[in-house]
Formats: sequence, C-alpha cells, structure tokens
Amino acid sequence: MSDFLMNTYARLPVAFTHGQGAWLFDESGKRYLDSICGLGVTSLGHAQPEVSQAIAEQAGLLLHTSNMFRITWQEKLAEKLAAISGMDKAFICSSGTEAIECALKITRLAGHERGIDKPGVVVMENSFHGRTLAALSATGSRKAQAGFEPLVSGFVRVPFNDLAAIEKVATLDKNITAVLVEPIQGEAGIQIPDPAYLTGLRKICDEHGWLLILDEIQSGVARTGEWYAYQHEGILPDILTSAKALANGIPIGACMARGAAANLLTPGRHGTTFGGNPLACRTACTVLDIMQQQNLRQRAAELGSQMLQSFKQQLDGKKSVVDVRGKGLMLAIELDQNAGPIKDAALEAGILINVTRDTIIRLLPPLILDDSQANTIVDTISKLILTKT
Ligand code: PLP
Repeated sequence: MSDFLMNTYARLPVAFTHGQGAWLFDESGKRYLDSICGLGVTSLGHAQPEVSQAIAEQAGLLLHTSNMFRITWQEKLAEKLAAISGMDKAFICSSGTEAIECALKITRLAGHERGIDKPGVVVMENSFHGRTLAALSATGSRKAQAGFEPLVSGFVRVPFNDLAAIEKVATLDKNITAVLVEPIQGEAGIQIPDPAYLTGLRKICDEHGWLLILDEIQSGVARTGEWYAYQHEGILPDILTSAKALANGIPIGACMARGAAANLLTPGRHGTTFGGNPLACRTACTVLDIMQQQNLRQRAAELGSQMLQSFKQQLDGKKSVVDVRGKGLMLAIELDQNAGPIKDAALEAGILINVTRDTIIRLLPPLILDDSQANTIVDTISKLILTKT
C-alpha cells in the first residue's frame, strides 16, 4: 500500500496488470473472473477491441477542446441518449456524482420558478447518490455522512418502497419539488421495490407537480435487461442520471431531462471543464452501439435470470442465507453474517465479488459473460457460502 495516497479505500492486496473480456490478471499472472466490473462500469468486459480502437483513434485525433465550442461527439451522444431513454436533452459530465449535482441544481431552479424559496427533495433511506456535499446529503447513510456536517439542507427522507410515506410528506411539506430515487438500490444491496412502485411514484409526482428524478447510475445502460430500469414499468422520469457503464471505464456521467426541466439550465448557470470531451463521448457512443448490435439488453435479462435461478437452487433455504435476489445482472445474496470471509475466499479462488452492508454479496458481472463463466461464478460462490458459513 502506498504512503503517498490518502487513506480513502480499504483496498485488497492485489493489483491488476491487464484484462481480457471477463478476466483480470494480477501482477503474478493469476487470473480472476470479474463479477463486479469495477462496480458496474466495465459492462463490455476488459480490453473490448472496438472500444480500445475508438479510444486509440480519438486519442490520436483530439482529446479536449472545451465546451466553449461545439463538440460533435457530445452532440451525437446526446442524441443517442435521448433515443434510448425517452429524455429530451442531456448535460454530459465526468461522473455519477456530478450528474446528481446537475439534477439537484435543475430541481432548485424548478422550485424557484414555482415561487418556492427553499425547494425540497424527497429522498430514500439507504440510498446512495455520491460523495460531493449535495449528493452526500441526499444519500441515506449516516455512516457516509458522519463528520461532514453541516450537510446541504432541503432533503426529506422516507423509507424506500413506501408510497404512503411520500403521500404523507406531500400533505405536510409544501416546499417539495422533486423525488429522487434509485429504481433498484445498488449500494444498499440490490434492493428491488414492489413492481408498481415507480408507476406509483410517477403518479404522486404528477399529482403534486413534482419532478421525478431517477438515479440509474448503477442500474442503467442495459444492466437490468432494459436500457434503464424504469422501462420495465413503461414510465418516464423527468430527470435521469446515468454514468458508470456508459463509457466502459472512461470517466463520464450524464444528467438527462425531459419537458420543462430540460430547458432550465442556460449558459453560465452550470458547466464543467472535462465533461463531454470528444474522448469520453466517442467512447460512450461506441459502447451504446456495441450493446445495441450485440443485443446485450436481452443477454443481461436472460443470463441474469439464469444465474438467479441457479443461485436459488443451490442456496434457497440454506442456513446463513437470508435472501437471493436480482434483476438482470444486478444480483445479491444476503447472509445472516459478515460476508467478508466469503469475499476473501472468492478472491483466493479467482473470483472477484463485492460485499455491501457487511452481509450482502453483490454481483454486477459484465454483460458479455459466457454461460460457462456464469456457471463458474455461481457454483464457486455457492460452494463457498455452503462450506464457510
Ligand atoms: N448514484 C448511484 C446509484 C451510485 O451507485 C453511485 C456510485 O456508486 C453514484 C451515484 C456516484 O457515482 P460516482 O461514483 O461515479 O460519482
């Protein structure tokens, strides 16, 4: 571990030198099946040839010019995003947190336009929206917030998957301007709400003139079997945040909006130096094209349900297993005990998994995983759970 890096991560003692598809190779040459994708980022796998070629070509042409000028790849990406999401316009930035900040700033403008001096946003318990001050304030984790007070004000927190709690806020708080929610809570351990939850949220927002902001930074870009998880319910948000898998590892984020919310930002009110540069945008265009050509939404849906069934067959009802759940290739196995030892044993066995909330094993495997790699992941993890808990 380096003495020259701030102590922000509890890192595992392994460093990778290269990757190939779903495989990663460490400094000793040992190979690992990557079933977390750098936390939902490298959905097309490592060293995807067309992505690498697009990056190399663009690096040889132009990396950066500034948003003072037109950026053709940014325009192309915004058009593609509109086509896949149903949103009207996009602001391209460099991370998920920045996309959230943009969404919150739009919400403040929308509130002020309605004559609300202190616009409020309904947010969820156990949510995760990022680490900058506003995104952290929206996040439902005291652990993440502790020590960073004073937090940004204007957030009202309710339990996830509880429409009645939001209706109650509507009767009590006339400052509310928006609801911000992850359609599937990722950091909370792949928490999947009841089937009509998003439709219910849409209805409440319509009734009260609120904006519905969906944070699909983790669940988006084909991972659940649709481009975005709200498409399973056939609704549309007013604001949508996306990042992570959008450029398969090149930093990028997008805050998209529809209707009046799409026109609130005007020159000088928001911006970023790096956001939307030709490299990131060309890479994202390439990623979306590949996902479309290879029909990876369908693959994510089919492989995800295959892996879920197979986990359930091996683990349902077993001692120490509380729940096995998933949607597409967002999968979780919740234990009644600390899952850290399973993560360590999996690493030893050459499989990368993630543990969130101490007891929940979270898998976000690449969408290009083949059947035999998927079987190896399911069988190895199931066996470790059955023998080590
Ligand atoms: N929102 C959600 C749902 C996330 O999962 C994350 C990251 O894990 C973020 C926001 C923050 O994104 P980033 O780490 O790219 O800033």
